[in-house]
Amino acid sequence: MHARGFRRIAALAMATAAPLGFGLATAPAASAAAATTVYYSSAGAPDYVAQIDQGAANWNAAVSDVQLVKDEGKATVKIHEVTSGGSYTQTDGHGNGDVYLDTSQVAEGYDPTRIAAHELGHNLGLPDHYEGPCTELMSGHGPGTSCTNAKPDAQETAKVQQLWANGVRAAGTRVTTTVY
Ligand SMILES: [Zn+2]
Repeated sequence: MHARGFRRIAALAMATAAPLGFGLATAPAASAAAATTVYYSSAGAPDYVAQIDQGAANWNAAVSDVQLVKDEGKATVKIHEVTSGGSYTQTDGHGNGDVYLDTSQVAEGYDPTRIAAHELGHNLGLPDHYEGPCTELMSGHGPGTSCTNAKPDAQETAKVQQLWANGVRAAGTRVTTTVY
């Protein structure tokens, strides 16, 4: 009698434990696959390769839903060097675009790593906010040449996370053309 009763309780316990275990096992796998990779090329800006890589690394350290990886073959964000006109980006804000880094702006004293990270920010969907402080990446040239911050602040980080949440590029037009 005792042995038979125990087997029955054990069988019930296993029946309820199995679905719970399954649910717990699948949840982390689903979130781990969420990041979108955006490939970029720096071949067109040979004088700023290190600064571009640093700008991308700063974004990668801040956000997890999208990551910037250099791949000259797969690049959908192509970075070029120009000598006048200001640094700017033509992008759909969805990880496709062309970035133009102006060497004359760097000669004026603007930090090239900040410019690169800022322009990459446009490709991730952020607009300009020139009136913002140096702690904001998207304030661009606004705070002047003394500003060398090349990392997004908490609000900019949260916005990019929201735009690229769960590996999906949020719908809607974001940035079209902007100047640093
Ligand atoms: Zn800008």
